[in-house]
Amino acid sequence: MTRRSPAWHVATVVESRPETTTARRIELEVPTWPGNDAGAHVDVRLTAPDGYQASRSYSLASSGAGTRLVLAVDEVPEGEVSPFLVHDLRAGDQIEVHGPLGAFFIWHPSDDPSPVQLIAGGSGVVPLFAMASAHAASDDPAPFRLLYSVRSPQDVFFADEVSALADDRFRLDTVYTRRTPPAWPEPPGRLTPERLRNAVFSPLERPRIYVCGPTPFVEAVAGWLVDAGHDPVRVRTERFGGA
Ligand SMILES: Cc1cc2nc3c(=O)[nH]c(=O)nc-3n(C[C@H](O)[C@H](O)[C@H](O)COP(=O)(O)OP(=O)(O)OC[C@H]3O[C@@H](n4cnc5c(N)ncnc54)[C@H](O)[C@@H]3O)c2cc1C
Repeated sequence: MTRRSPAWHVATVVESRPETTTARRIELEVPTWPGNDAGAHVDVRLTAPDGYQASRSYSLASSGAGTRLVLAVDEVPEGEVSPFLVHDLRAGDQIEVHGPLGAFFIWHPSDDPSPVQLIAGGSGVVPLFAMASAHAASDDPAPFRLLYSVRSPQDVFFADEVSALADDRFRLDTVYTRRTPPAWPEPPGRLTPERLRNAVFSPLERPRIYVCGPTPFVEAVAGWLVDAGHDPVRVRTERFGGA
């Protein structure tokens, strides 16, 4: 791991395109960016013409030494910042980002062979996608799994990229909470302690676990993991907010 001091940077929007029915993928060019570990996030600061400022945190779907940052922002209806990022931000616009942030919720290649379990709710997949991509690009020996809870096929972030990661070192398990793809083996339904237990590595394998998503999702999942016998010290969480 490389320690990089967080600082403010000017970012230029290179591209903004639909990611899901409610989210956009936003690519930023940040010439002064020092690079970041997978799982890190930035604070995005917007400044209105009258000087009013608002900032929110967004995870990076990208990692490594490059200066191109990838965000995926889901619109929170009635929110202050996310509707602007989703609907109004255009290629060529400039915003400010502070980072890289998050020394705890990161993953980097090592020689630790213990499995890594990623568990995402909705847009919480963003930093976990960065980890899975960094793992795929490395020769890190740990087996990875992603358990992804999402409303419907149209709400899957990085759908093609995540599917393309599946191989003997990476397994994807998707739980559709409202609507499944045609001929899906299970009816739609929320993640339950039983579904969780069936998908994740056993506590006996001592997985390192990263959980990310809306706050109620993360709290429920973290509780179920501990109830199932996972070591709380090996469970790292990132809460995106919401009640
Ligand atoms: C470390 C970190 C990383 C994050 N990464 C991402 C990311 O990669 N992509 C992404 O889309 N979001 C991410 N978020 C959430 C993001 O920071 C904002 O909270 C979100 O975009 C809403 O901001 P807003 O200004 O639109 O809403 P606000 O004006 O802040 O809130 C409006 C209402 O929505 C509720 N609310 C706030 N956040 C959420 C939420 N996440 N879900 C449901 N309800 C909410 C509030 O309680 C409030 O009632 C991250 C949050 C954190 C802390």
